[in-house]
Amino acid sequence: MAYAYDDQNVFAKILRGEIPNRTVLETEHTLAFQDIAPKAPHHVLVIPKGRYVTADHFALEASEAEIVDFTRAVGEICRKLGVQPGEGGAGFRTISNAGSDGVQEVPHYHLHILAGRNLGPMVPHG
Ligand code: AMP
Repeated sequence: MAYAYDDQNVFAKILRGEIPNRTVLETEHTLAFQDIAPKAPHHVLVIPKGRYVTADHFALEASEAEIVDFTRAVGEICRKLGVQPGEGGAGFRTISNAGSDGVQEVPHYHLHILAGRNLGPMVPHG
């Protein structure tokens, strides 16, 4: 079954400039901005500019240029935030929710970068 991309999702509107965002980084294929409801002192969302729904969709169908650009952007944001464990930072967590079991709210692929406090267990028990 092919992925159906919804052009009316909120991140598509951000990419079209229809609603504002607090940009952290913009590159040729990637946009990163502050989450509107931060779950940690640092909460950045990284999205590809292309029409990808989930992490697997992006991983399987994006071009190598898009994948490299996105991955480098994640590193660049960690550097900007000063959270790189190898550089004296206290670390971070990346999360990507997909589909109904992943409890994905916005159907445009995004990676959450959370940092600035101890983030506790990876997922709740149960
Ligand atoms: P997910 O559950 O992984 O799909 O997460 C969607 C995220 O998008 C949530 O953390 C929301 O707070 C965030 N969000 C929704 N609308 C906006 C917006 N207009 N600007 C920034 N972040 C948003």
